[in-house]
Amino acid sequence: MIGFFSARTLHVALLCLASACATAPATSETAPPVSPAAASTVAIPDTDPRVRSALDNLRAADAWLIEQQISICQIEAPPFKERRRAEDFAARFRALGYANARLDSIGNVIVERPGEPGEPVLVLSAHLDTVFPEGTDVTVRQSGDTLRGPGIGDDCRGLAVLLAIGRSLNETNVRTRGTIIFVGTVGEEGAGNLRGVRHLVDVSLKDRIDHFVSIDDAGFTLVTAAVGSNRYRVTYRGPGGHSYTDFGMPNPNHALGRAIALLSEVRVPEHPKTTYSVGIVAGGTTVNAIPATASMDVDLRSESPTSLATLDSTFRRAVASALAAERARWPTSSTALNVKIDTIGIRPAGTQSDASELVRAAISTARELGVTVKPEASSTDANYPISRGIPAITIGYGGIARGTHSLAEIWIKTPDADMGPRWAMLIAFRLAGVR
Ligand SMILES: [Zn+2]
Repeated sequence: MIGFFSARTLHVALLCLASACATAPATSETAPPVSPAAASTVAIPDTDPRVRSALDNLRAADAWLIEQQISICQIEAPPFKERRRAEDFAARFRALGYANARLDSIGNVIVERPGEPGEPVLVLSAHLDTVFPEGTDVTVRQSGDTLRGPGIGDDCRGLAVLLAIGRSLNETNVRTRGTIIFVGTVGEEGAGNLRGVRHLVDVSLKDRIDHFVSIDDAGFTLVTAAVGSNRYRVTYRGPGGHSYTDFGMPNPNHALGRAIALLSEVRVPEHPKTTYSVGIVAGGTTVNAIPATASMDVDLRSESPTSLATLDSTFRRAVASALAAERARWPTSSTALNVKIDTIGIRPAGTQSDASELVRAAISTARELGVTVKPEASSTDANYPISRGIPAITIGYGGIARGTHSLAEIWIKTPDADMGPRWAMLIAFRLAGVR
């Protein structure tokens, strides 16, 4: 019989990621980028009168934008049930003069503002879906500059920014050389597994996108690197039995415990930041039975595709080693114990050069607005185009968000909140060009 502790020591040694064993534990999260006293009074930074008029118009539309933010948010958009909000969103664009607003076959809203042939195509995107189940009270309550309601920031504000930019471009009749495509995606959150943006990139706008900008965070965030995640449910299964009379057979809960113990000892790199967590465990029905099943939901993440792949295989070895150790603990038992790994979701990791045209445009336009931004890594719709080699970023929509993904979510209109939409518009002008 193999003793548990000696087996454990062996497994821990096997599980240590070669590049990571010598590194210190990860530090705390990176602080959000600082927005210095960037007041709304900052001069419009472009001397082109057409750009200035569009930016002026957008600033003047601030109250209208917030009305859109509130009314969009009061239409439910639960995971996999975004249709009502999508149809409403397309109708809002049609009312602004965009007759081509349409839904693709997976439910994304696509609205094209054509430029000249052969010029760049820029996607400005926000996501339609929320994390909240059907039946959630989505009433938005306003008190002063604070809006309270599920999804009011994430991502109703992003959707409203798209509408406001589309409205100002049409009202001022500014034409761009490149094509601007406004997109509302489905399936950005959790189990949605980026299905909307995957379909957009691979099918609906296949081979057309030169730059992809997602508007999906508060403040003046700039996400240029995609944190990849692999999420799994691991289930150990046996016949189960009586805790006393059937003692001597492998126990799924014990196997699960071994797997968690092994995983918890894995050393991961601090740079690129690589993480793991067992988020949910379940198993058994009563205290006096050997359970038939035990499961855990595991979240593995990294900024680096290579580190994520290494962590993934380390995790799989831990799951298999735990199974072997639990079987070995009861060598005379003929009882079967098996394990199955189901995929909950895969989000690809990736990075791009801070010297790319898109990243430089985002940084320089923010600077012109008086805001300092620092490229960071996160997990958003931009993950997928980044992983496919398409320049993509996620930017903030201004203001402050609290309680994101909770029923108590709030978005606060700060004095510089209206610079979020102007930043997005300036990036679009920088990349698409005015004609
Ligand atoms: Zn979001």
